[in-house]
Amino acid sequence: MEKLKYERPSIKQLNAGLMNKFGLKTEYNPVTHIDGAPVKQIIADYGSPVFVMSERQIRKNYQNALRAFKTRYPKVQFAWSYKTNYLSAVCNVFHQEGSWAEVVSGFEYNKALNNGVPGNKIIFNGPDKREEDIRLAIENDSLIHIDHFDELYFLIEICEKLDRKPRVAIRVNMDTGIYPMWDRFGFNYESGQAWNAINKIMSTDRLELVGLHSHIGTFMLSTSAYAVAAAKLCDLAYHFKLKYNQNIQYLDLGGGFPSTNTLKGSFLPGADTVPSIDEFAEAITTTILNYGFRQDELPLLMLETGRAMVDDAGYLLGTVLATKRLSDGRRATIMDFGVNLMFTSFWYDHKISPAQEFSHHTEDMVVYGPLCMNIDVVRESVSLPLLQRGDNVVVHKVGAYNMTQWMQFISMRPNVVMVDMNDKVHLIRRAEKLEDLQMMEVMPEYLEKHEL
Ligand SMILES: *Cc1c(COP(=O)(O)O)cnc(C)c1O
Repeated sequence: MEKLKYERPSIKQLNAGLMNKFGLKTEYNPVTHIDGAPVKQIIADYGSPVFVMSERQIRKNYQNALRAFKTRYPKVQFAWSYKTNYLSAVCNVFHQEGSWAEVVSGFEYNKALNNGVPGNKIIFNGPDKREEDIRLAIENDSLIHIDHFDELYFLIEICEKLDRKPRVAIRVNMDTGIYPMWDRFGFNYESGQAWNAINKIMSTDRLELVGLHSHIGTFMLSTSAYAVAAAKLCDLAYHFKLKYNQNIQYLDLGGGFPSTNTLKGSFLPGADTVPSIDEFAEAITTTILNYGFRQDELPLLMLETGRAMVDDAGYLLGTVLATKRLSDGRRATIMDFGVNLMFTSFWYDHKISPAQEFSHHTEDMVVYGPLCMNIDVVRESVSLPLLQRGDNVVVHKVGAYNMTQWMQFISMRPNVVMVDMNDKVHLIRRAEKLEDLQMMEVMPEYLEKHEL
């Protein structure tokens, strides 16, 4: 057994942590390490701000989710949702674990190919598949998930030209009891549109219908919504078998499981309120198992869960630029990162921890980013120790959607590093430079010169 690290004993004052309108006092200890890598060293080596991904946490999340489903259902396959975080190093951790790729654009499709994912293990979703993307997907035997009738007809046209019969699924949207309903993607179940699509596919004989797909929403807090979705997909698959005497090979329940982040406006922290992956797995697998399929005809269960797998594996390290008093007397803390890097701060109250020892005096404050733009607010009100210029902070649970939705506005995107299983730090995306941005610009000749 590995020798455990010595930790000095400490005495802590017990604090019941009474909630006030700003929520809980969150911090009792500084966060000095990400896994075993020292925060201050990462900042010294890679600058501030800097994103940090924990390989250990990604693998843990994946293995936990896989276990939750595999122990309840015999045939399970995960596909990594590229748009959640498509840094290639992150994708490859998922691919090493056995995850396929789930993409929603030609660019993402090619990224998956470049990462070495075999074409027949790429799921191609989304409403925007261009002709060249569809041709490529057909040639690579990928799973094409049809989103709308225009795409269906276009696909049939291309197949006639290529004389190929690709494997397809349809995306189905439905009433799962969650409103507003996500009915803009795919074919509606209740209105009979999904059956229209199935019957059209079967009547052309140009496409091989192998799967049914749904992705009912994101950050879903209801497990029963997934039971409803699974039941409706089972109903389609079951009656498909009766009508066409063929089996639907897989049901893809998409993603949408919540991470443990805290949604804005919620009273209790997300970690205490969101259902676990096991609860979602229970709702989905019992529904399919009980539906009435013959044991040897049970469909493969596919999942495309994104944020629940990666959100808590991502950290943003940053530095306090300044503190000030606002006109109403409130304290404001200005950080060197803002909504340009933390798109999710529009939805989440991200936890922020000091990265060094601090006094136990706290104050309710607003945390701003560095942008010259009024909406650049990281936390509207948070109870934090009094941070000073130059202090470092760790923002938690930023692994999902921030490294794909970040914007190049006013400042450029920073370094991203990954802490590996041995606590070694690797650069996985270097910071952008002025040349990177200018590379894409073109100056018309007549504008090249000016005299000031
Ligand atoms: C975005 C997306 C996912 C991942 O969603 P999460 O809410 O991050 O789990 C899965 N499938 C499809 C089709 C998506 O568009």
